[in-house]
Amino acid sequence: MENKTSQEHVHVLIIGSGPAGYTAAIYAARANLKPVLYQGIQPGGQLTITTEVENYPGYPEGIQGPEMMVDFEKQATRMGADIRYGLATAVDFSSQPYKVEIDEEKTITADSIIIATGASAKWLGLPSEQRLNGSGVSACAVCDGFFFRGKEAAIVGAGDTAAEEALYLSKICSNVHMLVRRHEMRASKVMQDRVLKTSNIMVYWNTETLEVTGENKVEGVRILNTQTKEEKTIPINAFFVAIGHQPNSGIFAGKLEMDDQGYIKTIPGSTRTSVEGVFACGDVQDKTYRQAVTAAGSGCMAALDAERYLSAKGH
Ligand code: NDP
Repeated sequence: MENKTSQEHVHVLIIGSGPAGYTAAIYAARANLKPVLYQGIQPGGQLTITTEVENYPGYPEGIQGPEMMVDFEKQATRMGADIRYGLATAVDFSSQPYKVEIDEEKTITADSIIIATGASAKWLGLPSEQRLNGSGVSACAVCDGFFFRGKEAAIVGAGDTAAEEALYLSKICSNVHMLVRRHEMRASKVMQDRVLKTSNIMVYWNTETLEVTGENKVEGVRILNTQTKEEKTIPINAFFVAIGHQPNSGIFAGKLEMDDQGYIKTIPGSTRTSVEGVFACGDVQDKTYRQAVTAAGSGCMAALDAERYLSAKGH
C-alpha cells in the first residue's frame, strides 16, 4: 500500500458502522481511547434495510432498524467517538503502526484496529440477474417491494430472511412466488408456518432459477423443477434474491486468517485476529448467530480487547 500525502494517526480505528462498530465506538470512547470510526458504503449496515426489529432487548414495542442505527450512532457520538463517512480501501498490517487507506486518498495509521465491516447479500450469479439489477431485480424486499404494489413478485431462498421478505411482499404485491431449491425450507418452523398459511404466497419446491426474463425490466422468471425436469416461465414484475450473505472481508484477504468462506477467524472467547492489535467483531467474523444483539456484544468485546492490548503496550 502506497503512502498517501494526507496522513493522520489514531489510537483506535474502527472500520464499519453496524451494531458491532457503533458498540465498539461507545465502549472505546468511554475508555477515553478517542476512537475514529469510518462508516463504509452503507452507514448503519444491514439493519438500515430492514423494517421492524422485535428481538433487540430494551425496545419492548420493537423499533425500525434504521431508527435503531441512528440511536446507536447518536450514542457513540455523545460518548465522544469521531464518526466519519468514508470507506477503507486498503490495509497494511505488515508493521506497526498499522496503515489503513481511506477512499483511496488518505492514510490513517493506528495503534489498534477494530474490524466491523459486516456482511452483504449474496446473488445467484446469473447474467440476467445482474443485467436487470435495479430494474426489478433486488436483494432487499424491504427497500424495493414498495415499487411493486399490486404486482407479481418472485423471491428465491428458503431461510428466515426469504420467509420474512416473502411475508412482507405478500402485503404489498398481488402474489409472491417463492422459489425453494430443495424439498424443504431452512427457515424456522414458525416462519415456515406463516408462509404456508399465507394465501397469496405460492411455494415452488425443488426449483432452480434458470433466468430472469425481460429486456429493460423484469417480465418473468424461467424455472426448472429438478425432480420432474419440467421447465416453465412465471410472469412477474419483480425478482427478489434472499439466499444469505457473505462477509465483507475482501480488503483483508491475505492479511488476516480467514475461513474458506472469507469469515475472519478470531481466537475463541475473544475478538483477537491472527494479527496482534487487530480485532474483529460482528458479522464479518460470525456466520452462526448474525443477530444485532450478538454483533453489539462482540463490538463491546472488541473495544475491551483493544483497551487491554493498548494498555499492555503502554499506549
Ligand atoms: P440462510 O443461510 O439461513 O438461508 C439461505 C437460504 O437460501 C437457504 O434456504 C438456501 O437453501 C438458499 N440458497 C442459498 N443459495 C442458493 C441458491 N444459489 N439458489 C437458491 N437458493 C439458495 O440465510 P438467511 O439470510 O435466511 O438467514 C441468515 C441467518 O439470520 C440465519 O441464522 C437466520 O435464522 C437469521 N435470521 C433471523 C431472523 C429472525 O430471527 N427474525 C430474520 C432473518 C434471518 P438451502 O436451504 O437449500 O441451503
